[in-house]
Amino acid sequence: MSDGNGAPNLKVVDAFDLDDELRTLLRPGEMVKDEKGRRHRLPRYFYEVPSHDVAMQTRLTHHFGLNEFILVDLKENQRLQQFPTYVPCAVRTLAFYLEQFRAAAGASVHIAVNGGYRSPAHKMSHGATPHMWGTAADVYRIGSTILKTKELIEKYNEVAEDLSDDLHVLPMGHVTGSAADDHVHVDLGYITLIPREISEDRMEQPQENRPRFAYEERRRKERRHSVEEASEPQ
Ligand SMILES: [Zn+2]
Repeated sequence: MSDGNGAPNLKVVDAFDLDDELRTLLRPGEMVKDEKGRRHRLPRYFYEVPSHDVAMQTRLTHHFGLNEFILVDLKENQRLQQFPTYVPCAVRTLAFYLEQFRAAAGASVHIAVNGGYRSPAHKMSHGATPHMWGTAADVYRIGSTILKTKELIEKYNEVAEDLSDDLHVLPMGHVTGSAADDHVHVDLGYITLIPREISEDRMEQPQENRPRFAYEERRRKERRHSVEEASEPQ
């Protein structure tokens, strides 16, 4: 399901075309306020993940599989725990940054359950958090080191901050109403990704009986190979 080159060959769907239940859960295009009262527009374009097997097999980057970003438990809405399930397309941008973070940290980076994409219906979704955009990850372990002390969290927060101004981290103790705070939170803010295959030339409303989706184009390397093969002398 992937060319191993950073882009999953998954179907991209406009969430306005999904059924009523899914639209109600994913709330495409709706505005949500963050804790400072700033408004952010929820993503509209999602990868459709048809099965657990596909989630397991799809690589977003060399070291990150799609499955790692959609691991949820009962805190997620029941429908969204089933397949097909949906994840905002910006998740692949997050994976790219996490791949750089992994290299800078010098060890494998492990995302917690409920620590990747969380839908607006997820029990931990209070106000706009980048988790609802698929652009945040809660990392609970790096290599064999469990991130449960202030020192460790500050150390890896610094690694993330040194890596790019695009990466935002939260101090230890940022999880309100939670008994434990044992992870490094990194996010890219409220990025929404509109795949190039998608045309935006219509109003933001459901199109009755006209589902719109696209398959992502094959990436450069794969295209190049197929051109080379086609132009090889017989
Ligand atoms: Zn987080």
